[in-house]
Amino acid sequence: METIQADIAIIGAGGAGLRAAIAAAEADPHLTIALVSKVYPMRSHTCAAEGGAAGAVKADDSLEHHFNDTVGGGDWLSDQDAVEYFVKEAPRELVQLEHWGCPWNREPDGSVAVRPFGGMEIKRTWFAADKSGFHILHTLYQTSLKYPSIKFYDEFYATDLLVDDGHCRGLTAIEMRSGRMYQFRARAVIIAGGGAGRMFPFSTNGSIKTGDGMALAYRAGVPLKDMEFVQYHPTGLPNTGILLTEGCRGEGGILVNAHGRRYLQDYGLGPETAVGKLVLKTMELGPRDRLSQAFWHEQQKGNTIPTPWGDCVYLDMRHLGEKLIDERLPFVRELATSYLGVDPVKDMVPIRPVVHYMMGGIHTDIRAATPLGGLFAAGECACVSINGANRLGSNSLTELLVFGRRAALSAIEHLNSDAQAGNDAALSAQAQAAQDRIRALFMRPVGTESISGLRREMMDTMELNAGIYRTEKGLAEAAMKLAELRRRYAAGVSLHDKTNVYNTDLLQALELGSMLDCAEALVLSGLARKESRGAHQRLDFTGRDDMNYLKHSLAYYHPSEPPRIDYCKVVVTKSQPGVRNYSGDKK
Ligand SMILES: Cc1cc2nc3c(=O)[nH]c(=O)nc-3n(C[C@H](O)[C@H](O)[C@H](O)COP(=O)(O)OP(=O)(O)OC[C@H]3O[C@@H](n4cnc5c(N)ncnc54)[C@H](O)[C@@H]3O)c2cc1C
Repeated sequence: METIQADIAIIGAGGAGLRAAIAAAEADPHLTIALVSKVYPMRSHTCAAEGGAAGAVKADDSLEHHFNDTVGGGDWLSDQDAVEYFVKEAPRELVQLEHWGCPWNREPDGSVAVRPFGGMEIKRTWFAADKSGFHILHTLYQTSLKYPSIKFYDEFYATDLLVDDGHCRGLTAIEMRSGRMYQFRARAVIIAGGGAGRMFPFSTNGSIKTGDGMALAYRAGVPLKDMEFVQYHPTGLPNTGILLTEGCRGEGGILVNAHGRRYLQDYGLGPETAVGKLVLKTMELGPRDRLSQAFWHEQQKGNTIPTPWGDCVYLDMRHLGEKLIDERLPFVRELATSYLGVDPVKDMVPIRPVVHYMMGGIHTDIRAATPLGGLFAAGECACVSINGANRLGSNSLTELLVFGRRAALSAIEHLNSDAQAGNDAALSAQAQAAQDRIRALFMRPVGTESISGLRREMMDTMELNAGIYRTEKGLAEAAMKLAELRRRYAAGVSLHDKTNVYNTDLLQALELGSMLDCAEALVLSGLARKESRGAHQRLDFTGRDDMNYLKHSLAYYHPSEPPRIDYCKVVVTKSQPGVRNYSGDKK
């Protein structure tokens, strides 16, 4: 097996991975950086982000406001030292992107434009129309190309971490074009593998978001933190799950039920405001968890509209007018027209909540370091944790910049301390074992278990039992089902395609393995959390229980048993847990 040497290996070339690579290359041009990605960088999911990135810069805003919105939005499960660092670094990162060429929208006076976003008391979301992620990723990618020390390994699928003596020393990856396996030896590894929304059948996530990065760390002994917190975005297109950005509501779009009535004031989200009049943090500008939960209640009351793709409510943007829609939400118009045949300028758009984002992920500290020496993580795959129990829209793009950079700086600190190369023979044996496992998959006769069949069963289980509202019974059933699926996967999954070149059958089998592991961690963490907080809502434990559950869950992997669930403390610095108030009443 061929070996590639690098000082730092990064898994993932989305926003977090590229930002980390640039930061490392800038800090020390002599470092060799291997950027390993299963897709070409510009195909990473960051490209699909629409609405924008939060950073407090305007005269009416402050770091304290951004901090308070984030911590309250996260239902006090965020680590407040991490949030303080995040809000402080955010403006610098967004200005840095500007200098690298990101075309942020401007105000008429030439200053950067900001738009309102859900759960934020002040307008602070920087945007580039409704294609912010595309422009951010493009800016990062073109900047990364300036650094010869960054070597791109595009279309390489990472399968395993190499660990020796309690330290991560590299990884193995399959070159998809040839089917050949490589071992990457590195003195520090950064995982920036993105989210895992594809565990669910109805998701805004691109099909590559299968939790591989999380699973790599998890199987190497690093716990997954707060996995039970899954964000539903309130406005997905019902037939495809394609997202209509929160920017729709930030620009003044409203939600109405089957009777043409705005309903959010019935769920503690403020008194009804005049159409087009925005009152920040209330009604349609409430946080995503609350809006998605309100939909569920409307559905229970029979106030939703049945469609062939499930029950919906309407997003009404007609009052915004064609000019504003074309200027600020052109992509939304294009998506609604192309995928649903409705034009937001003239028609109300049917929408329903859709799985969007994982608040949980690889357990890291504020330095983006995992408990495993030499291993760092950033972006959606990581849980640092700034998002707590519910992420506020537009914090994620900023997070991957802030902590992508931080992960690189921490990796360099690690290199400068005592990073050894590790035991060559032990690491090679591990790489060989990884290759043998893949070979065994090729040798296995085609049996009765199909990849798509197992995946479908997993998705149905997640949708039925781990959705917006959960119960003990549902989660326990899901836990049993996932244990069964993991067993069946291990014993029976096989490949129809036995060739080496772009073997998507193999990749899908490996991705399914990642998703099954992440799904089990999610469900077991949810079963253990007997309270309702943020995006984790239990019908059988309806209140938040700070006495017993103001703590992060940690799921520890076991190859054949369900994960062990443990906990660690939430860092509270200056905001004591309080009541989340989105009623518009300041008292
Ligand atoms: C439709 C949509 C719209 C969004 N809009 C916004 C928004 O407006 N504002 C906001 O703040 N957030 C938004 N988000 C969330 C945000 O975009 C994501 O959380 C963020 O972009 C994730 O970035 P990342 O770098 O962590 O991962 P990604 O961009 O998903 O990149 C992951 C990388 O990991 C690589 N990878 C994964 N597995 C492997 C493997 N096994 N081997 C090798 N490489 C691997 C992939 O190739 C990819 O390069 C949106 C999300 C979606 C889905």
